[in-house]
Amino acid sequence: MLLKVDNLQAEIDDKQILKGLNIEVNPGEVHAIMGPNGAGKSTLANVLSGRDDYEVTEGTVTFDGEDLLDMDPEDRARKGLFLAFQYPVEIPGVSNKLFMQTAVNAIREERGEPALDMFDFDEFAQSKIELLNMRADLLERSVNVGFSGGEKKRNDIFQMALLEPKLCILDETDSGLDIDALKVVANGVNALRDDKRSFIVVTHYQRLLDYIKPDHVHVLYNGKIVKSGGFELVHELEENGYDEIIQAHS
Ligand code: ADP
Ligand code: MG
Ligand code: MG
Repeated sequence: MLLKVDNLQAEIDDKQILKGLNIEVNPGEVHAIMGPNGAGKSTLANVLSGRDDYEVTEGTVTFDGEDLLDMDPEDRARKGLFLAFQYPVEIPGVSNKLFMQTAVNAIREERGEPALDMFDFDEFAQSKIELLNMRADLLERSVNVGFSGGEKKRNDIFQMALLEPKLCILDETDSGLDIDALKVVANGVNALRDDKRSFIVVTHYQRLLDYIKPDHVHVLYNGKIVKSGGFELVHELEENGYDEIIQAHS
């Protein structure tokens, strides 16, 4: 098992948000997490990636055999956890290429692999660009400066490809995602999924899940996973909404 979350409870500003959450992710699996606004989906993503505004009060998280909650965010990233779409910071004057080369080399060092020089990194980046069927133009710009929403998304997926994580967590924001951005995300996930790499895709967009076809679908409500199923659950939710689930758990 790659990730095991057991009875996870977490709070922010003394308000309990996660109330005993369990989830298990095996290598190669794609899990979707759906649920109404305010359920705790982003909180789960943030707690897993180690954002420090959250306090974990109970439970354990094991990632690749190690205690995840014991690691700082940088260690989590070096061990192969990647969180996408968290409003990436803009860094004027630092080229996206240098930024990514540095990030890739930090991970290679952790794995005991030699650093990539500029030439090797170019070649490596080119192979990922081809895998994702993207253009390379974003590499020459400053990190995220002046990127449109779609460009940020494309860049995040590209970064995910370069870092070759074991577990990718995608936390889709609630704001508009046009069809092109949606396809960038779906194509990225589909191009990068393999029998070892796992994904947790947090989204409201049934359409995104139609493209991705997750192996497992969970409904998060009031800080817990209250229902799990296969891909068919996406359409069940689309037809019936969350009302029945909310009533059964309130
Ligand atoms: P979701 O992603 O499912 O919409 P969130 O994890 O963002 O839900 O939020 C879960 C709950 O935590 C909500 O009730 C929200 O108001 C609360 N919350 C989130 N962030 C904060 C914060 N920084 N301070 C206080 N409450 C927060
Ligand atoms: Mg929200
Ligand atoms: Mg959210």
